Amino acid sequence: MKRNVILLTLLLALAAGRSPAYQEVVKKVKCPLCGAPVSGTVVTNATRTALRLDLKPIGDLPVPNALLVCPGCSFVLFRDHLNPALKDSLNCFVKSEAYRNEAAGNTSYYLLGRIGEFRKLPDKDIAYTYLCASWQTEDDTARYFRYLELARQFYARGRAGSRDSTNEEYVSLCLQECEMLRLLGRFDQAQEVIDKMKRNYMLNLKDYSQAIELETRLISGKNGRPCQMDWKKEKAELVNYEDQVYGLPGFDQMQAGFEMDSLFFGSMDNDVRFFSSWLNGGTITYSKSFLVAMLHPLDPVLPNRTCWYIDYYRYRLVPDWRDFLRIQQEIGAKAGGLEWLRQWQQADSGKVVEARFQGKKLNAVSQSDRENVKAAWAHARLKGSPDYQLKLYRQDHCFCTLYLGIKEQAALVYHASSGRGTSLRDQMMRDADSLTYFKSFGAPLKPSHWLDTLEVDYNPNQQVPSYAVVFPDGKYEINQRGRSAAAE
Ligand SMILES: [Zn+2]
Repeated sequence: MKRNVILLTLLLALAAGRSPAYQEVVKKVKCPLCGAPVSGTVVTNATRTALRLDLKPIGDLPVPNALLVCPGCSFVLFRDHLNPALKDSLNCFVKSEAYRNEAAGNTSYYLLGRIGEFRKLPDKDIAYTYLCASWQTEDDTARYFRYLELARQFYARGRAGSRDSTNEEYVSLCLQECEMLRLLGRFDQAQEVIDKMKRNYMLNLKDYSQAIELETRLISGKNGRPCQMDWKKEKAELVNYEDQVYGLPGFDQMQAGFEMDSLFFGSMDNDVRFFSSWLNGGTITYSKSFLVAMLHPLDPVLPNRTCWYIDYYRYRLVPDWRDFLRIQQEIGAKAGGLEWLRQWQQADSGKVVEARFQGKKLNAVSQSDRENVKAAWAHARLKGSPDYQLKLYRQDHCFCTLYLGIKEQAALVYHASSGRGTSLRDQMMRDADSLTYFKSFGAPLKPSHWLDTLEVDYNPNQQVPSYAVVFPDGKYEINQRGRSAAAE
């Protein structure tokens, strides 16, 4: 079925490799609106074995997946962290009398639907949320029909707003609307929707034709009961990596020292790997994606932000919070001792020293950058290896990448651009952060420290490699030696 099967927070993983056992964790967070502690059990790994015609998944999983609701303000935590603008508007909405009146007698997904309406989300997403609410109340007829009718209205609204009445999205909206009508016992209207849709039907997809056929058969038999799709019985593993984070060992210790301000999927700068696939004989290019946690230490220390790239393998996150704390402490001991870095950070507001590392590794240098960083380090005749990676930000713009080594007192500035530099194009190719940086081009920030004025940008084709070395006393040198001098 290629309908929009959005299992909200559950991510559908490819059904390959070992199947994970059913797993759940207790998630403890703070309400992003009122700050009250919120906790509840959420499922991180489950197995779906079948699918109903109304898209309800069947299997070893709770449907719908539990949502956390704040006991203080009744906010449904669809996200743990909100940006200030969204937070302000939602605060007003959740405090409104209308919302508070509804909070008592309704389910979490119904309230989430109301929040979705307030946020003006797409009709089909709101419809699906109300559909989830109907699954929560299947044994409470009055509420079940009320929620189902809401789902129907939003599917109908989505259909009416479609510009193209031949594409998959339109057909799936019609099928859902029709299915809601059937479950509500309005068979004639259900048949009307399907007849109208079939007039423009051009898709040649087996899933759709089978669904239309089953729908038509049930309607003509005046059958209003939920029904499984016989042809959708393949096993699928459902994994929620975001929630796995809350169950990893060391989470409580981490929370005592850090605040996690966001959690998202991302890839490392330019980390594109090439795989030769024996399946199609060709080469597939893909960017490996990680779950990325952004964390701030509660104490005023350096680094004052950390980007932790969490890798996963076979439905599980690989590292845990003890790995995070160990590496974080190591980097903190190294970076915290650099007086020049502390002076840079304090010279102006909005300056961030960000540490980046991946899983149990000490840094998050992409595969494609690794050799270059090592070559620059060796050319600079620094001891050991470039172990820790730091990114410096001014007003949210990354303008400098530098490396520190366990065996080395000096730091390597691998790339830095004050905003007047000529290397912005190169940076954009290499560093996604520069996209936001690029927007500020033409209005460079005023330097408040010598580091803000540095212009270096290493690449392997330079005759004279462009990098700078900062010594422990804060003096720095921009490299002047040619590449062949490296062997000296
Ligand atoms: Zn709250």
